[in-house]
Amino acid sequence: MTVFAAADYRAHEMVSHVQDPASGLRAIVAIHSTALGPAFGGCRMYPYADDDAALADALRLSRAMTFKAALAGVPFGGGKAVIIGDPARDKSDALLAAMARFIDSFGGRYLTADDVGTTVRDMAFMRRFTPHARGQADAAGQPCPATAFGTYHGIRAVAAHRFGRADLAGRTVAIQGLGSVGWRLAGYLAAEGARLVVADIRPEVADRAVAAFGAAAVSPEDILFQDVDILSLNALGAVFDDATIPRLRARAIAGAANNQLARPEHGRMLADRGITYAPDYVVNAGGLIDVAHEGPGYDPAAVLDHCAGIADTTARVLARADREGAAPADIADRMAEERLADGRAVDKSLVSRAGRPYDVGALA
Ligand code: NAD
Repeated sequence: MTVFAAADYRAHEMVSHVQDPASGLRAIVAIHSTALGPAFGGCRMYPYADDDAALADALRLSRAMTFKAALAGVPFGGGKAVIIGDPARDKSDALLAAMARFIDSFGGRYLTADDVGTTVRDMAFMRRFTPHARGQADAAGQPCPATAFGTYHGIRAVAAHRFGRADLAGRTVAIQGLGSVGWRLAGYLAAEGARLVVADIRPEVADRAVAAFGAAAVSPEDILFQDVDILSLNALGAVFDDATIPRLRARAIAGAANNQLARPEHGRMLADRGITYAPDYVVNAGGLIDVAHEGPGYDPAAVLDHCAGIADTTARVLARADREGAAPADIADRMAEERLADGRAVDKSLVSRAGRPYDVGALA
């Protein structure tokens, strides 16, 4: 495993790894940047093919978090934790406790939360060993609806930009993936009168959407290529590539799935095809915004309010992309880099929230 020569290494501040033979834990924490605040990023557990694949994920995702936090205006930097293992087979209390102690060793410089392969329950357990595991459940034990709500507002901004009005009544939206984000998003869209086409690899969930939202269900293979106003990915990343882009028929794209472009040039390919692409990390920042609000005095209404601001950020990215003749994904990166350079637009009210388990005073 070579760190400095890894393809995704971009001057990360710190990359640490741990092995705990007693619990079988093998994990990596990558801290990309703490320029705007403590590095934040979920704790992923995945059966990586090898150490290099795990390192690549940690490096890539931690950098993406730096950019996402910068554009969302939250006082966080970017980090990521990856545990090498199959959550269904290898996860145990001992492993989570060992991971929590590893995270604690950063003294608040890295904050974690639930991610692919870990749950809000796992985070609650890890909080026995460290205050730096975030991610809390709502009253029903589910993650907060912030990501879906923010994505919904991102979609409204895309509609305003592309079709001249944010209102989604009568718009057709294709949704790939009806999990915790996609299902709630479908609810928001249907409530506004959008016509939905849906697909999920769990056919029973797609059937439920047909009953609940009057959606039309299509196969997971066909959902990308529907003739719709907006295509919304809420399942997998790396979907838009040389093979899929020429076949797309949607006018615009906005969804919560991370890393939707296989490579940066695919953002330009979408623009060349006249498809309006709302960069994923701009649209899906709701979960991050929610975590930034966590702590004493947590106000769900304030979280949703902040998430609604994703519409404004999306609109600014798309407008600047038009002005500069550039792809929105490139513009989002540029705007994030500008904010990193001057520390602008960090929400000071979040920085100064009392009782946070790390020293935010230094950040204000
Ligand atoms: P989830 O696991 O709850 O849901 C994913 C859904 O997609 C499942 O219903 C699954 O059956 C379905 N699916 C998987 N492969 C599919 C395919 N090929 N075609 C159609 N459906 C498929 O995940 P989630 O929490 O809803 O997150 C969805 C996406 O949004 C992920 O890419 C995630 O990284 C991203 N995201 C989530 C959050 C969050 O707060 N949960 C925040 C930011 C980004």
